[in-house]
Amino acid sequence: MKETFDAASSNAGAPRRATLRVFSLIPTGKFVFSAPRWLLLVAVLLLFAFPVSRAAQRTRKLLFLTHSAGFKHAVIPLAEKIMPEIGKKFGNFETTVTQDCSSISAENLKNYNAVMFYTTGELPISEEGKKAFMDFIRNGKGFVGVHCATDTFYKWPEYGQMIGGYFDQHPWHTDVVVRVEDKTFPATAHLGASFKIKDEIYQFKDWSREKTHVLLSLDPGSVDLTVKNVHRTDKDFGLAWCHPYGKGRVFYSALGHRDEVWQDERFQKFLVNGTLWAMGAVKARVAVGTE
Ligand SMILES: [Zn+2]
Repeated sequence: MKETFDAASSNAGAPRRATLRVFSLIPTGKFVFSAPRWLLLVAVLLLFAFPVSRAAQRTRKLLFLTHSAGFKHAVIPLAEKIMPEIGKKFGNFETTVTQDCSSISAENLKNYNAVMFYTTGELPISEEGKKAFMDFIRNGKGFVGVHCATDTFYKWPEYGQMIGGYFDQHPWHTDVVVRVEDKTFPATAHLGASFKIKDEIYQFKDWSREKTHVLLSLDPGSVDLTVKNVHRTDKDFGLAWCHPYGKGRVFYSALGHRDEVWQDERFQKFLVNGTLWAMGAVKARVAVGTE
């Protein structure tokens, strides 16, 4: 059975609709021609001005948490520098970077359209904070997990279900071929049918393509499957995926260990466009599971 999900943009069409409303009054317009001219002028100005002012108020915001309760990645300072830059450059959204887990609270999350984790271990987030975090996503906002976000919260199964799986060793750290499984999704449309990249390559447990929409996967022919710690007998190594969660959206990238990956424009656009999808700013058809 196939589920579909349309992350319709909440306001992308608003200016066009408003414009059409103005012109639709004119041909039908008894009201238009009987109203005083100054009133018509004010109405037209308001209709044009309203979407602009609303758009200005709606600069989207990302909260980027980089707390390491377990292994601490050397790339974190670079990721903290790059994410706000590329968010602005490619996505026109603002990024707040923090290592403070108390930022995950109902009150603070009101300020954001999505939360991004580059985290490890059992994060010191209170039970109230955890509930607020899940409510945030379920009620229509976005979550973006990068690399070690799946090496996080092993003791909180609800988190594992939300993100789609847990880290289970990284059998490879080498040049690999990555297959692009969805060539039309906003995050992957620029990547072609496949691409080569050097990174630490995660393997996952409690992960299945039946539960998510796979965007990228490892070409198993590009690695040595006989190395130690290869556990998946199905040779299915998803490397990026997305799915709805309640009314919200979850996007995950396993890539993101090396400095060179964060500095790679292909990865930057992938991450920003995936974040925009998680925010609900761009829409895409997401089919969960296989047909
Ligand atoms: Zn890593």
